[in-house]
Amino acid sequence: MTHDATLSSLTGLDLRPLEQRLRGTLLRPGMATYDSARQLMNRAVTRRPAAIAQVADSQDVVEVVRFARDRGLPLGVRSGGHSPAGYGMVDDALVVDLSGMKRVTIDPDARLARVEAGVTSGELAAFAQPHGLAISTGDTSSVGFGGLATGGGIGFMVRKYGLTIDNLIAAQVVTASGKLVTASEQEHPDLFWAIRGGGGNFGIITEFIVRLAEVRQILGGDLVLPASREVIRGYLDYVADAPEGLTTIAHLMHAPPAPYIPEARVGEVVLSILVTWVGDESEGQRAVAPLRALAEPVADTIAWMPYPAIFNFTAHQAVPICHAIRSVLTHEVSDEVVDAALEAVERANSPFSLVQFRGLGGAMARVGREATAFAHRDARYMVTLLALWMDENEDATPHRAWIEAVWPAIRATGTGVYVNFLEEEGHERIRQAYPLPTLARLAEVKRTYDPHNMFRFNQNIAPAMSA
Ligand SMILES: Cc1cc2nc3c(=O)[nH]c(=O)nc-3n(C[C@H](O)[C@H](O)[C@H](O)COP(=O)(O)OP(=O)(O)OC[C@H]3O[C@@H](n4cnc5c(N)ncnc54)[C@H](O)[C@@H]3O)c2cc1C
Repeated sequence: MTHDATLSSLTGLDLRPLEQRLRGTLLRPGMATYDSARQLMNRAVTRRPAAIAQVADSQDVVEVVRFARDRGLPLGVRSGGHSPAGYGMVDDALVVDLSGMKRVTIDPDARLARVEAGVTSGELAAFAQPHGLAISTGDTSSVGFGGLATGGGIGFMVRKYGLTIDNLIAAQVVTASGKLVTASEQEHPDLFWAIRGGGGNFGIITEFIVRLAEVRQILGGDLVLPASREVIRGYLDYVADAPEGLTTIAHLMHAPPAPYIPEARVGEVVLSILVTWVGDESEGQRAVAPLRALAEPVADTIAWMPYPAIFNFTAHQAVPICHAIRSVLTHEVSDEVVDAALEAVERANSPFSLVQFRGLGGAMARVGREATAFAHRDARYMVTLLALWMDENEDATPHRAWIEAVWPAIRATGTGVYVNFLEEEGHERIRQAYPLPTLARLAEVKRTYDPHNMFRFNQNIAPAMSA
């Protein structure tokens, strides 16, 4: 059966046979929690699925996939709901919602964790901390493991421990045929390769087995510097070649009214550098010194702290608001790009809109280009434009126009893009997420595991044509 079904096939469809087989809950329009369940992190996206299956376990996922497959129904997948494109909800479709699957089991001796897809970065960090363990995930506590760890996972410790997927040992995957399989180096290795960067194209992952690192305390915090071309240049020149224990995420933005920003400086254009150092504290102080020396800080909150405390500095990002995004991975950030970013932030029409710079390299770059579907291993930076606004009823046009004005300058510098930082930007941009040989291999794996493109509400990779 093909999967071209639209609203007409779901309207009036008897969902009771599915409901009876689920341990979780099937929500339909009009039910009390339907509206809260369909809300996404990006408030600019509003979708109304025909039904939301809030699954309780892997078997529930199997049931939903088989139900959808047998009837040719459109099927969406949601874990944490943070897709910039809002792919976590699909109009008129049946959506599998894994956000309630939150079991984490840690084997501290083996330093392994079994993590269900609905677990968030913050929850996992808090769970692993008492064992003195952690894994590098994203920069925001509320991001779901399901979407993060299928796209890559560029986190607070990426230079020290690589991408989240670089620490993936195995995953439980429900394929389009409705089978629950293990993907690992030993079992279904082609699928294991593809789910490490290929996004949600190959099946629904219910559980990940990941390797944790020994991380108890970090040197972390927010170093806020006055923004200028020299400061940004100095930051960029240092961070991609800094000692590997140091990972940074910098935001060129208007200084927020955070408790540690002097009142008189709120609203000033600043470079807010989120610092995570893993290792010896005094070595960390030495690694951070060149950043501190770039300018007299507006604020300096860098301190020795438990790893999960770093998420306190991004707590505002875990609140749903409206956003539009454009992003590149790149080898170099020229002075022209720095100037364009500075000018864009200075004249931004929203006080929240910003340009993000991340220094990459380190452990992430040492993994072979062919080892996983995330292949842009040699990118030294990620540069991201983020238009942010609070009210979903506000006209998005000026915010999108702000992005479009500066995007050509940033885009020109790109050598690729991180699939999880794509909005709905068309096939050409998905192609930029993968070098051509990677894309061809992904299309082959797609043909094997999802030949009818059941999992297509995502940064979609079409199945390779039959020979
Ligand atoms: C505020 C914010 C901060 C972010 N920071 C970072 C960061 O620091 N580093 C980083 O790497 N990324 C970051 N991201 C991007 C994030 O990794 C992606 O948006 C990711 O897709 C979110 O996963 P989710 O489960 O929350 O999303 P969802 O919207 O629930 O899912 C998105 C898509 O992922 C796929 N998917 C989800 N769950 C599964 C599953 N269980 N099995 C198979 N496919 C699945 C599906 O195609 C789904 O439509 C950030 C996003 C936001 C909004």
